[in-house]
Amino acid sequence: MNSYNIAVIPGDGVGVEVTEATLKVLLAAAEKFGFNLAPTQYEWGCEYYVEHGEMMPADGLSQLKKSDAIYLGAVGWPEKVCDSVSLHGLLLPIRKQFDQFVNMRPHRLLTGTSGPLKKTKFDILCIRENTEGEYSGAGGRVHVGNPHEVAVETSVFTRHGVERLLRFGFEQARQRSGKLASITKSNAQKYSMVFWDEITEELSAEYPDVTVERYHVDAAAARMITHPESFDVIVASNLFGDILSDIGAAIQGGLGFAASANINPSRELPSMFEPVHGSAPDIAGLGKANPVAAVWSGAMMLEHLGETKAAQAIMAALNDVLASPDNCTPDMGGKATTSEVAEAIVKAI
Ligand code: ATP
Ligand code: MG
Repeated sequence: MNSYNIAVIPGDGVGVEVTEATLKVLLAAAEKFGFNLAPTQYEWGCEYYVEHGEMMPADGLSQLKKSDAIYLGAVGWPEKVCDSVSLHGLLLPIRKQFDQFVNMRPHRLLTGTSGPLKKTKFDILCIRENTEGEYSGAGGRVHVGNPHEVAVETSVFTRHGVERLLRFGFEQARQRSGKLASITKSNAQKYSMVFWDEITEELSAEYPDVTVERYHVDAAAARMITHPESFDVIVASNLFGDILSDIGAAIQGGLGFAASANINPSRELPSMFEPVHGSAPDIAGLGKANPVAAVWSGAMMLEHLGETKAAQAIMAALNDVLASPDNCTPDMGGKATTSEVAEAIVKAI
């Protein structure tokens, strides 16, 4: 029997609630499909920070390294801990240490759900670069407080970084409809984005079965609203992917449905799976959180671990369950609680 060690960080606010719901679903899927999931829970996050002055222990990353995958609920407690502390104290170090250079987010409507668009048929896989680009952190400020103050934020694009991300995009496109949309702004950014285009061109020779379409990010953003069905796999830099995947989340019905995976495709280091939403302090502790994004992220984890049938069964169960208004949380206009939805998903599996 295959067995997987999962490091589970429920984190803060609704992160705790949706993680509990997801674990129930994942364990039910494991039982049904005959593999073993061994979760180890780590109580790290903002409460830990308030007590210890850090988001996780000093050897936190080496504790996580032993796992086959990491599952994260959400971190953040804006009242007590500023957002940049929680981000730089937990999420970013994990992404960096385990070189999770792909951020993958699926955008499609599940049965019974609706987004703000009249269009209902779209199935977009957004692949965002997760370690460099516009968020490299390189830059500085001079003449601070002076009328001539200057701030510089440098984008860093390496051949290694761009090539491995694009390659991942080509591979995904090959497994889906064979269409890859590469997003740049090479008319305005004549170094980094032209470099990106050149590498795309080079790689496309290796993937003759994949059709590459190139869009500037502004045009792509508009097109995701007007013709979302025309996209399949989207590959983009850190900043552009960040923005486009939020549009994707919006058109698929909101944060309650937005799943994500931070992937290191080499599999030598653990990848991390998390719903896109944050700790949602406004509804924390009320049982109102929609667990679908979290459960979907859990299904992506099982897929990554090679348990494809179990992952597919969870997605089918989500579609079944959401078809009934009785299983909808308040963000979907229903009255169901987080744990009621989880129970319904477990039953459907
Ligand atoms: P962060 O600051 O951690 O990135 P965020 O800015 O994305 O988070 P959230 O905490 O995710 O903000 O919440 C944004 C809004 O969406 C809130 O009103 C919250 O209640 C709602 N929301 C977030 N997640 C869910 C969910 N799973 N179910 C229902 N509503 C949610
Ligand atoms: Mg926020």
